[in-house]
Amino acid sequence: MAESTAVDEEHKGESSPFSNSVYKELAKLNGRINQMSKAAVVSKLKELKLSTEGNCDVLKKRLKNYYKKKKLTSANLFTASKLSPYYVIVDFEATCQETNVPDYQHEIIEFPAVLVSTELQQVIDHFQAYCRPVLNSTLSGFCKELTGITQEDVDTADTFPQVVKDFEAWLTKHKLGSKHKFTVVTDGPWDMGRFLYGQCKISGLPYPKFAKKWINIRKAFSNFYKCRRFSLKMMLEHLELDFEGRPHCGLDDARNIARVLLRMISDGASIQVNERIHLLALEAKSKVGKPECVVVPVTASNPYNTANKMQQKRRQRDHQTTVFSDSDEDST
Ligand code: AMP
Ligand code: MG
Repeated sequence: MAESTAVDEEHKGESSPFSNSVYKELAKLNGRINQMSKAAVVSKLKELKLSTEGNCDVLKKRLKNYYKKKKLTSANLFTASKLSPYYVIVDFEATCQETNVPDYQHEIIEFPAVLVSTELQQVIDHFQAYCRPVLNSTLSGFCKELTGITQEDVDTADTFPQVVKDFEAWLTKHKLGSKHKFTVVTDGPWDMGRFLYGQCKISGLPYPKFAKKWINIRKAFSNFYKCRRFSLKMMLEHLELDFEGRPHCGLDDARNIARVLLRMISDGASIQVNERIHLLALEAKSKVGKPECVVVPVTASNPYNTANKMQQKRRQRDHQTTVFSDSDEDST
């Protein structure tokens, strides 16, 4: 696995990245940390009263970031991580079969959201509602087993249009999107690109503004800790955290994503929008088998308002199954 240096992201594109001696000092320190055993890193972190949760790579990253912040602050060169004041973590559960046929129309059956305050570094509220599916109103045994959602939960629930209104009212109650800026966080590109997009089509609703761009935490995690793209379970394992609650319960999934997010914030990660949806409905109308929307990576060199046209064109040519794969097309 490639070892990161504390100064790598900071100076991309600058003509003389190491002109200040503090950077040389940090590079040396990083080299020394790379050579340290896990026990030595743990002992140093304990001495500094920092968390010792996480595998060796995570612990080294934490220690490097501690020195980076300390040394750059004293040299007046520290720039704070780029964070949103609030994060809203969404993790939909949907109707499914054991083997989902490619054109299976998933319907959202659980709409959970967890609100994280960056200032308080904690979860401050949550929203949860079940949704009654209309195309496949009877849940498969597999779906009930996977998600823990019962037939009664969905039979007594509102349909999606009412639930999305209730969710938007919850955002309004917290002044999110008005007084307070927030960013949506998901685990992978599918919540928005597949489940929400598909559900809005089924319900005849316009695609909601709040979900046009978001943070795919898998990408953010792999970019920050310099590791492969991991599932939620594996991200938690990497941080040496146990999954709390029931996997595939949307609310518990969202709470565990929040734990990963909070760990990344306290480790000094910048956590910004890295994906957006690009709606192609009109362009793709007459082309059978073509996708109607694509999930587009958002990077420093490819911001969401000037998305890389070549990438978009290539994706438009691709089949839907590849469009929604968790691709590696972001800059790392
Ligand atoms: P998750 O957020 O991982 O709980 O998954 C979201 C949704 O994806 C689930 O509610 C299912 O509709 C679908 N899904 C997840 N895992 C599977 C699976 N192993 N087989 C079929 N569908 C799945
Ligand atoms: Mg889930």
